[in-house]
Amino acid sequence: MTSAGLSKGVGTAVKREVLISGAGIAGPALAYWLHRAGFAVTVVEKARAPRDGGYPVDVRGTATEVVRRMGILPRLREAHIDSRRCTFLDADGGEVASLDPRALAGGAGGQDVEVRRGDLAAILHGLVRDDVEFLFGDSVDTFDQHGQGVDVTFRSGRQHTFDLVVGADGMHSRTRESLFGPEERFHRYLGYCFAVFTMPNTFGLSHESVLWNTPGKGAALYAVGDSDELHAFLNFYRSEPPLEALRDPQAQLDLVAAVFAGAGWEVPGMVDAMRGADDLFFDTVGQIRMPHWSSGRAVLVGDAAYAPSFLAGQGTSLALAGAYMLADALAAHRDHTAAFAAYERGVREFVTMNQALADKGAARLFPTTAQALEQRNTMLRGLVTAPSAAAPPAHSALVLPEAVPAP
Ligand SMILES: Cc1cc2nc3c(=O)[nH]c(=O)nc-3n(C[C@H](O)[C@H](O)[C@H](O)COP(=O)(O)OP(=O)(O)OC[C@H]3O[C@@H](n4cnc5c(N)ncnc54)[C@H](O)[C@@H]3O)c2cc1C
Repeated sequence: MTSAGLSKGVGTAVKREVLISGAGIAGPALAYWLHRAGFAVTVVEKARAPRDGGYPVDVRGTATEVVRRMGILPRLREAHIDSRRCTFLDADGGEVASLDPRALAGGAGGQDVEVRRGDLAAILHGLVRDDVEFLFGDSVDTFDQHGQGVDVTFRSGRQHTFDLVVGADGMHSRTRESLFGPEERFHRYLGYCFAVFTMPNTFGLSHESVLWNTPGKGAALYAVGDSDELHAFLNFYRSEPPLEALRDPQAQLDLVAAVFAGAGWEVPGMVDAMRGADDLFFDTVGQIRMPHWSSGRAVLVGDAAYAPSFLAGQGTSLALAGAYMLADALAAHRDHTAAFAAYERGVREFVTMNQALADKGAARLFPTTAQALEQRNTMLRGLVTAPSAAAPPAHSALVLPEAVPAP
């Protein structure tokens, strides 16, 4: 298969119609490449507009090449957050080590970018909004596959038959549930729960993050640029997922407050801020692992199919690279079954390698025992004087098919 496949459909008589559910990262990226390949694309997103704000995300390795081919790398470089320091603190707030973030995650010589998630989503949407139909504030109610296509009924009542349906609807994908069954079958719990929210930057932090740890608990403040708001993050180990709390916002607040009761540093103020936050998001840390990503005329991409968790730091990059590879496979193979098989063959190993990074991320960011924390701190002190670590091979393990010809 060559990338010529990505322009193959242009000019053919009948455009194949694809519905993408989800306008996060994978959805608009896939829409871009499918449109270029001559597909008629509709994207349905349950939110009323592209979701802005949010925590910073990384575009690394292979995904950097994807955004370069989309022509948006210069804009992403402009939006690059340029975090300059990551400071680790002990239980009392004393400094353990202060590092260049690249010394920790590995950086490909200034090639990778870190941007606000909302900035990336807006840039992707802006790139395709004139070429693709977006249905905001709507979602798929039911879909029914048959030999000729997929009959879709939307929540709004609208109905249409598509050739193919793609679930790009994130970690808790409804498309996945409809096709393959409940999330529990595919969700691999990684032992942590987290709460993220924003709070005022009363600490004077700028272009930096601060991470406080005790065994099994972590509290982070992330200053994106010179913003007067901070991303606050409370993360804790729990052997079993708190299933009841996932359905009960008040129970989430109480659980986090109980776990961090008596903690030092600025943690009490963070817990207070969490209680007053209007953007609190609480979840378990987990991955999506599936034996197959397609069923009939429907297929999954991004977090819906292979969320790696923030501990791997590769969710956005997998979403971008996966979208490219799925579009390439669909353009190269008229038969969707062959296309989905090619997509899976092309991406599976890359996904596995990047999901495996989560273990290292957990050990580095949230050690669960006093001994592991001490080892981690010793390692960090060693990194203070070391040059930036090389990027993990997993980031670039996927070599994209040849460059896409300009439309
Ligand atoms: C706290 C946290 C920190 C993170 N940090 C990083 C990081 O440092 N680096 C990194 O690379 N990644 C990070 N990630 C992960 C990253 O945000 C995702 O992996 C990435 O956005 C995946 O893109 P996606 O398009 O597959 O899913 P999403 O971005 O989740 O997009 C899914 C879209 O589908 C929509 N949707 C959901 N259900 C429906 C429905 N039924 N119908 C229609 N639309 C629907 C949603 O509204 C959303 O717009 C982090 C995630 C979290 C939670």
